[in-house]
Amino acid sequence: MIKFSGVSKKYKNNIIAVSNISFTIDNGEFVFLVGSSGAGKSTILKLLLREEIPTTGNIYIDKKDITLLKRKEVPYLRRTIGVVFQDFRLLPNKTVYENIAFAMEIVEAEPREIRKRVPMVLSLVGLSDRANSYPQQLSGGEQQRASLARAIVNEPSILVADEPTGNLDPDTTWDIVKLISEINKRGTTVVMATHAKDIVDIMKKRVIEIDKGNIVRDEARGVYCYEV
Ligand code: ADP
Ligand code: ADP
Repeated sequence: MIKFSGVSKKYKNNIIAVSNISFTIDNGEFVFLVGSSGAGKSTILKLLLREEIPTTGNIYIDKKDITLLKRKEVPYLRRTIGVVFQDFRLLPNKTVYENIAFAMEIVEAEPREIRKRVPMVLSLVGLSDRANSYPQQLSGGEQQRASLARAIVNEPSILVADEPTGNLDPDTTWDIVKLISEINKRGTTVVMATHAKDIVDIMKKRVIEIDKGNIVRDEARGVYCYEV
């Protein structure tokens, strides 16, 4: 379970990006974070990943307050959360296979386990035939699949996605959303920030809307926005 309790984040320039927000996300939920640019979505995701530390408040993952983690404990948190970004962030000098294997090497997985898991996740995202390609040889959709494979290879309990379809065309977008939905159905909690109105409206998942650092809407089967 993820729990934000009275969380605020004020950056060094005194911008208050997140203002006293509280919410909980149960294991296995699929949550869309929506809101205009600058609303505070990325900040919330960074707080969850402990890339930022809140100015006030507490953030719990499975009852553990991650704001209290020591520096050397942070890598253990990162193992429990897979992340995908709008710009893929694959290592350009490694093949698809090596990019994914590297994520396992970092957490000191057994070579035997790596040889087993990497082909498994490549197959799950439909990239088995691209294992030996380099990222720049792939389409945007294929790069995002590779990045999804990398995000889930260590079997995280949470998948964080920050605008994962922002650079993709509509058809490719749906392929990626279906994959994320598939990963969610296998039990992974998904928290996805997005501007993709069509997706949010069709998926009918929980929607948390952020505006100027505040939660202004939290609906179980929500839409992207309401016309005024
Ligand atoms: P969103 O993801 O919804 O577009 P962000 O969380 O990126 O929103 O940004 C929220 C606010 O915080 C914005 O006003 C943004 O300019 C500001 N902000 C984001 N990151 C930083 C930072 N590292 N330093 C200072 N201000 C920041
Ligand atoms: P399901 O939840 O039934 O397994 P998926 O996870 O494949 O379905 O897709 C999630 C939702 O997205 C479904 O409601 C499906 O109808 C919709 N959807 C899938 N592909 C497209 C598409 N290309 N255009 C519009 N909606 C789509």
